[in-house]
Amino acid sequence: MIVPVDSAAPEPEILARAAEVLRRGGLVAFPTETVYGLGAHAMDPAAVAGIYAAKGRPGYNPLIVHTADAEGARALAAAWPQAAARLAEAFWPGPLTLVVPKRAGVPDAVTAGLPSVALRVPAHPVAHALLRTAGLPVAAPSANRSTEVSPTTARHVERGLGDRVDLILDGGPCPVGIESTVVSLVSAVPTLLRPGSVSVDELRRVVGEVALPAAEPGGEAARPSPGMMDRHYAPRAPLRMLPRDGRAEALRRAAEAGGRVGALLLAPVDDARLGPVIRMPADPAGYAARLYAALHEMDEAGVDAILVDPVPDGGAWAGIRDRLRRAVTG
Ligand code: AMP
Ligand code: MG
Repeated sequence: MIVPVDSAAPEPEILARAAEVLRRGGLVAFPTETVYGLGAHAMDPAAVAGIYAAKGRPGYNPLIVHTADAEGARALAAAWPQAAARLAEAFWPGPLTLVVPKRAGVPDAVTAGLPSVALRVPAHPVAHALLRTAGLPVAAPSANRSTEVSPTTARHVERGLGDRVDLILDGGPCPVGIESTVVSLVSAVPTLLRPGSVSVDELRRVVGEVALPAAEPGGEAARPSPGMMDRHYAPRAPLRMLPRDGRAEALRRAAEAGGRVGALLLAPVDDARLGPVIRMPADPAGYAARLYAALHEMDEAGVDAILVDPVPDGGAWAGIRDRLRRAVTG
């Protein structure tokens, strides 16, 4: 069930109720600044198993554990390298996840059997207040069925997961809109595992060298971390990127081919046969905040195909390029 919560000043009685659900091993969906999370008591393997079951998530794909502050995160780590301390200081609370060696008590169910754990301190007032009230580490992947588009509103969560969730806290749309940047600190050089709104340039300003994953599209061998190369973030209809050259021609051909063709565009198009057409913001923060909602709108409209304008090069767009690449069919 969906319960509205004041995202500026979350109501203590609602937080207490949600915390109780978590303590008892239930599932609570809640807003974070990135996307809505599907939370469970991270130290309770049965509760964590509930996340995998509700999402249909493969067991090899580890979860991110959320805590109210850096101290709480550090308590789950077996080592806290200086780079972790620096990045936590610079970016927490916020949309950055740090992978560090895990402490023995962290269940294998959370880390998919890995010796490391992914940790984040979210900035969203509802996420933060819930973590404080519960006083627990909360494992929380995005609150969607595995491989579907991540939710940025409570309605998206309800449509995707329905009564598989005990409680959905509705704190409005998520301001960042794409999942956190993930950095591994397990080896000597910090390594980017997933691009996000915290850019590599920003990370480098804090810790110097940051290694990038070997290959961009990559195969199994280039997989930077488990779960990373799966088809992900994908709407129901096939999604294709438009070419930079010959865009108008590609749009015209798609319209002539028939069916309902939706589009996420950065520049206008004048073709009444296309629709729905969503004009996307031209800045990376605005684009990210709109992206998943736009893909959900395409799902709801029941389009047969989705065409997307290519987004600019450059570090600020890296997280968006990554999500679009993984939403592309084939
Ligand atoms: P999600 O919860 O869907 O945002 O995905 C979290 C992602 O973080 C996973 O799919 C992994 O790719 C990555 N991750 C989580 N834990 C670890 C870990 N211990 N080592 C490496 N990557 C991890
Ligand atoms: Mg996810």
